[in-house]
Amino acid sequence: MKNRGLLLVVSGPAGAGKGTICGTFMQRHPQVHLSVSATTRAPRAMEQEGIHYYFLQQQQFEQMIAQDAFIEWANFCGNYYGTPRAKVEEKLAAGQDVLLEIEVQGAMQVKKKFPEAVLIFILPPSMEELRSRIIGRGTETMEVIDRRMARAAEEVELAQQYDYFILNDTVEEATDRFESIVQAEKIKVSRNLTLLKEVRGQ
Ligand code: 5GP
Repeated sequence: MKNRGLLLVVSGPAGAGKGTICGTFMQRHPQVHLSVSATTRAPRAMEQEGIHYYFLQQQQFEQMIAQDAFIEWANFCGNYYGTPRAKVEEKLAAGQDVLLEIEVQGAMQVKKKFPEAVLIFILPPSMEELRSRIIGRGTETMEVIDRRMARAAEEVELAQQYDYFILNDTVEEATDRFESIVQAEKIKVSRNLTLLKEVRGQ
């Protein structure tokens, strides 16, 4: 019998490098399904509908909430973000691993609904480094940067609720650590009880 896929949840403050780490991980493991979230935030330059996000109007988003069409959703710095349910459940049931890159409130909802999910928190080397990374990205106004920095401090507080920390010093090393977590989780006894039965010939 095929095991259910792993549900991997990656969070971390904006600028901590979670996008880059997840991107490098996905390059190494293209068979993993990277969930595309819905958001009411306006697209940034280069962002494409259906690839980076599904960009929705507030009313459309609220309709999906009412239909219970999200695994989790949250309001982050004035915009809605949510993980559409259908694809994630389909992939997990088919034994495919699924990666969610979401903020902490959403991750806490996932943890409640899917206790077997693996929660990973990406830590920046320091808050100063975080600020210079967000500024360096050049996609946000100063006001948004300040709001995101305040939010980052709150997010780091919730990091204790996660299963693993990854300190993002270099992308390669951080991605190696991410891979080690996934490898270890896959051979966890609690996820492989059917294997035990097979070995025993039951
Ligand atoms: P950004 O606007 O920079 O793309 O994302 C802002 C924050 O929202 C990031 O921490 C990102 O991981 C998070 N996020 C993206 N998609 C989702 C989602 O579907 N649900 C939740 N809860 N957070 C999300």
